[in-house]
Amino acid sequence: MSEFDVDLFVIGGGSGGVRAARIAAGHGAKVMVAEEYRLGGTCVVRGCVPKKLYVYASRFHDDFEDAAGYGWTLPAKPVFDWNALTASKEKEISRLSGLYRQTLEKADVAIVEQRALVSGPNAVKLADGRTVTAKHILVAVGASPNLEPAVPGIQHAISSSELFDLPVFPKRLMIVGGGYIAVEFAGVFARLGARVEQVMRADNVLRGFDGDMRAGVRDALAHAGVKFHFGALPTTIEKTADGLRVTMSKGEDLVVDQVVVATGRLPHTRGLGLESAGVAMDAVGAVKVDGYSRTNVASIYAVGDVTNRLNLTPVAIREGHAFADTVFGGKDVRVDHSNVATAVFTTPELGTVGLTEEQAREKFDIVDIYSAGFRPMKATLSGRAERTLMKIVVDGATDRVLGVHILGHEAGEMAQLLGIAVKMGATKADFDATMAVHPTAAEELVTMRARSARHVKGV
Ligand code: NDP
Repeated sequence: MSEFDVDLFVIGGGSGGVRAARIAAGHGAKVMVAEEYRLGGTCVVRGCVPKKLYVYASRFHDDFEDAAGYGWTLPAKPVFDWNALTASKEKEISRLSGLYRQTLEKADVAIVEQRALVSGPNAVKLADGRTVTAKHILVAVGASPNLEPAVPGIQHAISSSELFDLPVFPKRLMIVGGGYIAVEFAGVFARLGARVEQVMRADNVLRGFDGDMRAGVRDALAHAGVKFHFGALPTTIEKTADGLRVTMSKGEDLVVDQVVVATGRLPHTRGLGLESAGVAMDAVGAVKVDGYSRTNVASIYAVGDVTNRLNLTPVAIREGHAFADTVFGGKDVRVDHSNVATAVFTTPELGTVGLTEEQAREKFDIVDIYSAGFRPMKATLSGRAERTLMKIVVDGATDRVLGVHILGHEAGEMAQLLGIAVKMGATKADFDATMAVHPTAAEELVTMRARSARHVKGV
C-alpha cells in the first residue's frame, strides 16, 4: 500500500493536465484530476477551438462577396444570426468537453469537479473540505485574462472569454490590445458586421512577429474595416444610455456596445496555495520550472501556461506528456521549445516558424532574406484586393533556414508542415531542390530563387 491516496494529483483539466493524467495512468499510476469549471480548459472551452469556429463563421462574409466573380448570384443579401452561431458553438464545445471526460474515465482517472488548492508538498485540499495526499502534484491551471490598464470603469469591460457568449451581437466593439487575441477577434467581428475600434499602446500589432508580416496583418485588418488607434489607450469607461463611453488618452471619446480587453494573460496561481508548499514563482506569478517541468519542490511539477514558457496548447500537451513519461514511464523526456510553429488566425492567416528577420539579424552575422508578395489566385476573379506575403530567413554562412513567415490563406496549415523542415535543419538548397505543387500559393516557398536582401552584421 502506498502512503499516499494517489500517485498523481493534477490540478486543472485543460490540455496539459488531461494529457499528463491520461499518460501517467497508462503507465500504471493512480491519478486524480480536479477541474473547477469545464473539462477541456481554455483551448477547448474559451480559446482556440471556439475562436477557430468563429473565424470560419466570419470568412463566409468574404466567400459570399467573392462568389460573384465566379459566376454566382446569391438570391438575397446573406443574413448573419449571432445567436445561432453561439448555440452551435456551445453544442460542439459540450461534445468536446464530453470527449475529454470519456478519455479520462477510460484511462481510470478519477475526476473531481471542484477547485483544488495545494496545501503542502504532498497534499491537495478540495473545495468540499477533503484533503487528498499525492506522491506527485501537477499544477496545470493555465492563465487568466489580465484586465489592464486598470482605468476607472474597467469593470464594464469584458475579456475574450465573455465575448463568445454575449447575448446580443456587439455592433460597436472596442478591442484593447494588439496581440494574438486582439487581432483575431478584430478580424472576426469586423467580418461578422461589427464596427471595430482596435486600441493599443504600441504603434503596430503583434509585437515579436516579423516586421513585414505585422504590417501585412495590420493592412489586412484595416481593409476588413477595423479602425486602428495606435499609441492610445482608454482612460475611463463610463456606462451611458447609449452604450459605453470611452475616454481616450489620445483622440476623441468613443461610444461602443462592448469593450474587450485583450492585454495578455497571467498565470492563474493567485490563491492556489503554492506558497504554502514553498513553490517558487516569478514576478507575474508563473511557476518556475526546469526542463523537466520540475518546480523547486521535488514532488510538485507544473506544465502549460501557468509556467509562462511558450503559451500554446500543443506545447502544454507536449509538456504534460513528457512529464508523465519521465516521472511514471521510466523515460527521460525534455521538451524542446525551439522552432515551434504557430499561427495567428486573422484573415488571411499568419503562419510562422523560427526566427523573424529582426531576431536573425541580432543573432547571426550574415542573414539572407528571400521574399515574395503576390495576389493569391482566388483573388483574380473575385477582384478582392489582397496580398499574400512569404519570407524565408536564411543563415548566409551555412544556408540553413532560420525562419519562414507567411501571411496568406491556410498559412497555419503551411506553417505546420514547414515546422518539420525547419526543425530538421533544412537548408535553402533543400527548399530549392523540392518540386513545386502547382498551382498553389505554397509553391512560392520552393521557387524563390533571387535573394531580396543580405544583411551583414556591422555593415
Ligand atoms: P499577447 O501577449 O499576445 O498581447 C498582449 C497585448 O496587450 C499586446 O498588444 C500588448 O502591448 C498589450 N498590453 C499588455 N499589457 C498591457 C497594459 N498593461 N496596458 C495596455 N496594453 C497592454 O496576449 P493575448 O492576450 O493576445 O494572448 C495571450 C496568449 O494567448 C498569447 O501569448 C498566446 O500565446 C496565446 N494565444 C495564442 C493564439 C494562437 O496560437 N493563435 C490565439 C490566442 C492566444 P505591447 O505590444 O505594447 O506589449
